[in-house]
Amino acid sequence: MTERDEIAVVGAGLAGCLLACFLARRGYPVALYERRPDPRTGKVERGRSINLALSERGLDALRRIGLDGQVMADALPMRGRMLHPVEGEQQFQSYSVSGDRAINSISRGALNNALLDAASALPGVRIAFEHRLVGLDPITGDMTFETPQGKVAATASVVLGADGAGSAVRGQLLGYGVLTESVDFLDYGYKELTIPPLGGDFALDPGALHIWPRGTSMMIALPNPDRSFTCTLFWPTHGTASFASLGSPAAIEQHFATHYPDLIPLAPNLVDDYQHNPVGVLGTVRCTPWQVNGKVGLLGDAAHAIVPFYGQGANCAFEDVVELDRCLDECDDDWAAALPLFQHRRQENAEAIAQMALANFVEMRDKVASPLFQAGKRVEHALERALPGRYVSRYELVSFSTTPYAEVRRRVRRQHRVLGAVAVGAAALLAGAVGAVISRGRRG
Ligand SMILES: Cc1cc2nc3c(=O)[nH]c(=O)nc-3n(C[C@H](O)[C@H](O)[C@H](O)COP(=O)(O)OP(=O)(O)OC[C@H]3O[C@@H](n4cnc5c(N)ncnc54)[C@H](O)[C@@H]3O)c2cc1C
Repeated sequence: MTERDEIAVVGAGLAGCLLACFLARRGYPVALYERRPDPRTGKVERGRSINLALSERGLDALRRIGLDGQVMADALPMRGRMLHPVEGEQQFQSYSVSGDRAINSISRGALNNALLDAASALPGVRIAFEHRLVGLDPITGDMTFETPQGKVAATASVVLGADGAGSAVRGQLLGYGVLTESVDFLDYGYKELTIPPLGGDFALDPGALHIWPRGTSMMIALPNPDRSFTCTLFWPTHGTASFASLGSPAAIEQHFATHYPDLIPLAPNLVDDYQHNPVGVLGTVRCTPWQVNGKVGLLGDAAHAIVPFYGQGANCAFEDVVELDRCLDECDDDWAAALPLFQHRRQENAEAIAQMALANFVEMRDKVASPLFQAGKRVEHALERALPGRYVSRYELVSFSTTPYAEVRRRVRRQHRVLGAVAVGAAALLAGAVGAVISRGRRG
């Protein structure tokens, strides 16, 4: 076996490691190239999100390689949102009509390590850490990597870019003029803070995803197995009440005391975290094509990074791997047929979740707090109970099913149209009845 026979996967993040497992299972020799050192040696990159919400799509992929049990052993199920108003009591909003369905807070590092262990245990997978892709010929599959020992050349029969939102593979295809891309950055960034355990226990309810909706900005908090919470601020990058506007410890304390008063006693390192943790960027990546000549392909964030407000980026990347595996099945492992089929099937779904994720930001930071929204949720849950399986909320379809994202949007639109028609019909009936009563009254 030579490098020419190998499938190269660039990026040993969440999608890359899972992909290596699926490809090795199909019998391919796989070379997994990662720019970072082996994360299992203990070094943690500051500023990458510490935990993430894993839901049905991600779990479905992990089940297929028998890793769901291990990953879920340390997961903390979150059955709904806990809203923190500026004043007054916290309010719980269940994610599902039954109240028992949950999204799962898991450690990103532990998930990545579990996937790395699974990939490296498979025959045929070799992992090259500290290999940063800096050159790629899309015709030959020849690659150049920067390593601590200098530049290294490699090649492969197929090169798959799973190297995240700032993908170097995508950048190379762009440089060759065989791909176009758009990157829409939000005017918002994110910063992480920590709520440590309180008296050895969780300081907040660990069964919920906590949200501090503040109109134009928000904070969320997810529980960790060590009984801490990781908070993420999603704030404007510039302007008033933005990351740029708060610098001095006094200004930081004052801002949190005014807008997040219940956080102050729970976050003793607030000012230090705020001053030292970086601000991450948020955006949506769109590009096309996702493959060139069946030789180079893109998947996960490299093909379609999205904003994190539906908790679906990693779930969607995992679903990509399942779909690519299915396309290889259907195309008898003919990559020149499988990669275009993969793009054809996944692109509209990636676009659908990209749009739903953007819309969910407005819902989380603003709408969730409004009485009208809360009443709407109660009506929605009542409909789900009255019409089980026939009326299903968007949140349930996205988080608790593997219904393709584009189909979720179509189905939710259909449901809303029918509801609208029923509401108009009911109003007409009511108006008719009222009219009849009035005219009977006049006759009498
Ligand atoms: C604040 C925040 C919260 C999030 N919360 C959630 C959530 O709750 N649920 C969810 O499903 N998703 C969430 N996401 C999204 C999720 O993190 C991503 O969608 C997911 O990590 C994508 O996986 P990936 O493997 O495609 O990319 P990545 O995880 O980014 O992995 C890419 C890998 O490629 C490597 N790499 C990069 N460049 C090179 C190179 N030149 N050469 C070699 N290797 C390279 C990187 O080091 C990395 O290991 C969140 C994202 C953010 C920013």
